[in-house]
Parts: sequence; C-alpha cells; structure tokens
Amino acid sequence: MKKHIFNAGPSVLPKEVILEASEAIKEYNRSGLSILEISHRSKDFIEIIEEAKSSVLELLNLPSDYKVLFLHGGASLQFSMVPMNLMKPAVGSAAYVDTGSWSAKAIKDAKLFGEVSVIASSKEEGYGFIPKLESIEDSFDYVHLTANNTIYGTQFKSFPKTNSPLVCDMSSDIFSRNLDFSQFDLIYAGVQKNSGAAGTTIVVVKDQLLENLEKDQKIPSMLSYKAHLEKDSLLNTPAVYAVYISLLTLRWIKKNGGIQGMEQRNNEKSSLLYKEIDRNPMIKGFVSPESRSSMNATFEIIGEENKNLFEKLCEDAGIVGIKGHRSIGGYRASMYNALALESVVSLVEVMQNIEKKSYHLV
Ligand SMILES: *Cc1c(COP(=O)(O)O)cnc(C)c1O
Repeated sequence: MKKHIFNAGPSVLPKEVILEASEAIKEYNRSGLSILEISHRSKDFIEIIEEAKSSVLELLNLPSDYKVLFLHGGASLQFSMVPMNLMKPAVGSAAYVDTGSWSAKAIKDAKLFGEVSVIASSKEEGYGFIPKLESIEDSFDYVHLTANNTIYGTQFKSFPKTNSPLVCDMSSDIFSRNLDFSQFDLIYAGVQKNSGAAGTTIVVVKDQLLENLEKDQKIPSMLSYKAHLEKDSLLNTPAVYAVYISLLTLRWIKKNGGIQGMEQRNNEKSSLLYKEIDRNPMIKGFVSPESRSSMNATFEIIGEENKNLFEKLCEDAGIVGIKGHRSIGGYRASMYNALALESVVSLVEVMQNIEKKSYHLV
C-alpha cells in the first residue's frame, strides 16, 4: 500500500532519489565498487561533493564568496560550533531569538561561550507565534534565528535588519521557499528534513565572516569552520553516502523548478491543509495564522472519540508520521519538498471524514 509520509525528520524523499541511491549501493558509476566502498579521496567522490556544493550555492542564488561545507554532528553540533567560532574570545556577545525548542537548545549551548542576549521570545505564550522584530539596533558578534520551528509549526516570513552578522538555522525549511539568502552570513541545516537522508549537515558561510575573526582562537580542528574550509570538507572522512543522497535530492529540486518550483508546490500543499484546518469545526490549529509554517502544520482534533477515529482513518489511508512532537502532543503534518500534493489531499479527506462521521454520532 502506498504510504503518505508526513514524518518530521528523517522524512519523505523523492522516489527517484531512493531508486538511484539504491542502484549506487550495488555499483557506483560502473566502477565495480559500491558507493559504500569508494574512497572519499577518489575522483568519483570529489565530483559528488563538488557538484553538491555548487548546487547549494546555485539553488540559494549565492555568489562564490559564500562557501559550502558538509559536516558531521547534525544541526545540533552547530549550536556550539557557531558560538565557538563566531564569538570573540573573552568578550563574546550574541543575540538570539527564542522561537521554540531548537532555539532554546542553541541558546543553552551558546551561553557556554559568552554573553547571550535573548532579544525576542514567544516562550511565555507557548511558542505559538513569531515575535515582531523589524530591526536590531545594537551590535553583536552575531544574531541567531531559527527560520522554521519544526516542533511548533511557526516560520519567519521576513527577517530583521541588523548590522551584525546574521546566522540562521534552516534545518526544516532550506530550499523550500525563495528568500534573499544573501542577507545571511551563515546558514546551517541538517539535511534529513528537506535535502537528503540523515548523516550530514550543510553549512553555508560567507568568506568575510571568517576573515573578520580574530586569529588567536583556540578551537579544536574538527569544530573549526576555517579548518574544514581549508580542507574542502575533507578534514576527515565525510559521510560519503549521505552527501551523495543529498546531491541526488538537490538535482531533483533543480529538475523540478528550483526554489521557485518548491515554493509553489509547498504553498499549494500548505494552503490546502490550512484551509481545511480553518474550515473544519473538529480541528483547531495550534499557532497564530500569520506565523504558520508552510513546512510543519500543527493542530489538535477536538473530542477524544474524534482523535481515535482520526488516527484509525489515517492508518487506513496509509498516512504515517502525523503525531505531534512528544513535547506538545496533538498532531503535526510535515509537508517537506518531496511530499506530493496527493498526500495532503488524502489527509484533507480524512479530516472531512471525521467531521461527517462525528456528526453521525451525535
Ligand atoms: C531537526 C532540527 C534540528 C536538529 O537537527 P539534528 O540534525 O538532529 O541535530 C535543529 N534545528 C531545527 C530547526 C530542526 O528542525
């Protein structure tokens, strides 16, 4: 039975990516070797990682004074790499916007390295919206934002103006919508949500940002952006297979209209779902409409018996991964790039069916 994969991450991948990736396990590029057996120093892999890096810049429409790294440790390691590299030693200061659990984790780690100012937060209100923030007057070593809050289902629609370097966690919405990416000095994203399978993390960094850093920083090599850049992401063995799957996913994005194509696809899916959430009396959205994420829609079903019915109908329809994050409960539909419109259509049908069936019950 065909499954509709609404998992929050790792998440749905394009079918053709999975087929090509499985062929490469059997044999890569007529080399007589599986991709799992090739050297990370081989011509085959150098071509893979170089195309992946240039595809990232091309898709984000960034010039060559930005560099791309494929690193280990997930987006979560960036919570400490960012402050370790970007805060000035001894007198470091950074500003963070607290819009959810991932921001809060980034803040916690940054505090180990310097002064952290939380300049805006929606924590007290249960992270149900994105705080308004047009510009940031004070100067910091950097300002950190989480573009899309995967757990709560909120998303920045525009970003504040600031004279400080702007750092953004785009784990759950990179390559999903068209933005002026040159407003950011550093972007990071674990690839398992919108750009591949678990195992590698994309970091995009502007040359200028690293050039401005003080020379005498004491950073272990594996945690230093400069050290990784000097070795072109080959400071140690990269996650060969994960980088390859990411490349296949980036090719798929390009083939399907690039970021503009993804944005159109994603808007179509999310407007369909939010329209039903707003219309259906059995369903209540979690967050303020103006902050709604086009990637992760969070909602509650009203009435215990409707919840059971909803889960049963989802199962019958092949819908998986619809449960909300364990920290907030309810339901969450993650609609990343590779999720087809027909999957959202199926979910909306289930929502309409609980409404009909529950009216029969009364
Ligand atoms: C999933 C997620 C992370 C954590 O990613 P890992 O690769 O598991 O470390 C961080 N930030 C955001 C916004 C996420 O969605």
